[in-house]
Amino acid sequence: MPRTDRTVGAVAYSDCLIIGGGQAGGWVAAGLRQKGFSGTISLVGDEPYHPYERPPLSKQVLAGEQPYESTYLRPTSFYEESGIGLHLGRRAVGLDPVQHVVTTEDANRLSYGKLVLATGARPRRLMMGRAEVAGVYYLRGIADMLAIRSRLAPGRRLVIIGGGFIGLEVAAVAAKLGAEVTVVETEDVLLKRTTPRIVALAVQELHESHGVTFRLSAKISAVEGVGDQKALVLDNGEEIQADLVLGGIGVTPNVDLAVAGGLRVYNGILVDAYGQSSVPDIFAAGDVTNHFNPVLGRYIRLESWQNAQNQALAVAGVLCGESAAYAEIPWLWSDQYNLNLQYAGLPTGSTGEIIRGAPESGTFSIFSTLGARVIAVCGFNAPKDVAIGKRLIAGAQEIDSAKLADTGFDLRKAVAR
Ligand code: FAD
Ligand code: NAP
Repeated sequence: MPRTDRTVGAVAYSDCLIIGGGQAGGWVAAGLRQKGFSGTISLVGDEPYHPYERPPLSKQVLAGEQPYESTYLRPTSFYEESGIGLHLGRRAVGLDPVQHVVTTEDANRLSYGKLVLATGARPRRLMMGRAEVAGVYYLRGIADMLAIRSRLAPGRRLVIIGGGFIGLEVAAVAAKLGAEVTVVETEDVLLKRTTPRIVALAVQELHESHGVTFRLSAKISAVEGVGDQKALVLDNGEEIQADLVLGGIGVTPNVDLAVAGGLRVYNGILVDAYGQSSVPDIFAAGDVTNHFNPVLGRYIRLESWQNAQNQALAVAGVLCGESAAYAEIPWLWSDQYNLNLQYAGLPTGSTGEIIRGAPESGTFSIFSTLGARVIAVCGFNAPKDVAIGKRLIAGAQEIDSAKLADTGFDLRKAVAR
């Protein structure tokens, strides 16, 4: 039976203290026990819920098809049975790396042998000038999802600001529930940060076929009204009436605690491929890290389920004495209606795009290439292409573009063994 945390003087001590009770924090705790860590473990999270995964919050759970408890990483009994002390609904506000002490907002002092920061990210707020626009909803956690879901109903006018993943996944659910959905996006195309243009256009068409309307290349110049009822004025003078406004305009990493502790921070907490920060005994995992990825040969900050789980497991391994670096090809997915989008690799710096399959067929993929090598793939209802694409990226092998484009050619034959 693993030990639970014990008190040293007036300060509760843990061999490993985890801050953040999201996906990464939860996996560090569980991963430590899986890998045989016998020391004391405590986890501090400011949400009142047991560690959970967020993807279903903009999909099945928002649609009311699954209860939010289905997002929990482990049964609630797991933590007590595994000797993991949970301090939920408590925010960590101070970090003294010399004394090895974290302070919570209710003035508790928690000391640690090793500290893991898994504080994630928070939604960017919609601003008008220097002022935050009041009455806008954001979707990050269970509480946000409950507030939004209770306001979705047939005929309700939902205006979504931001045509990224949150915006489009919520648009799909809301449209299915009968809401009237308008998406306002500053760029001239949806999903610009992540997605090849041809795929983004096919995604837009799919949404339009479900009644969603778009305002692209649109800037909001004013938001009027109080409470949920709003009028959004665009810079072309158009006014859009809303019963509910959702902001999906990206996230900011939660680095406040790392900054308080003097850690090196640049677009997230800078960590190496083992999750080690610039300060001894302090590690980090998940959305909050700007980490060195040995496969890509550079630092990167990812906002994905894969990264939250697997970087956390790698850090747990390091804390148990393993020597494996976290070295994976980035991968993520999005579900909208019956569409499954998947991405592997990163297209940054690509010199070519090869299309495999016809967009009109409803199944196709885009391979981004650098010279004759595949560096990224995006599949529109084409998970097999993405799975094979991942292997091509990992192998860094050269491939004939005609074969990539030919749906008659079995791509598995192109993968070096
Ligand atoms: P988080 O999940 O943000 O968890 C961090 C936790 O730490 C939070 O509970 C936060 O409140 C807490 N915290 C922060 N500061 C403190 C503090 N000082 N003290 C105590 N606690 C603190 N990715 C995909 O790949 N595919 C998807 O389909 C997908 N869908 C998504 C849908 C939604 C609605 C959202 C919001 C995200 C989705 N993602 C998806 C992204 C994925 O969920 C995130 O990358 C992942 O949640 C990151 O996990 P994390 O633990 O690093 O951060
Ligand atoms: P996102 O994917 O970064 O998309 C935000 C979009 O809003 C971008 O297109 C952005 O354009 C645009 N935008 C920014 N400011 C705007 C403004 N003032 N007015 C109109 N549009 C604006 O972020 P998100 O959709 O908010 O998602 C939040 C987080 O949840 C991310 O970490 C995301 O990865 C995660 N998530 C992931 C999934 C998934 O992987 N399937 C699903 C849901 C959520 P610019 O790029 O030009 O700023």
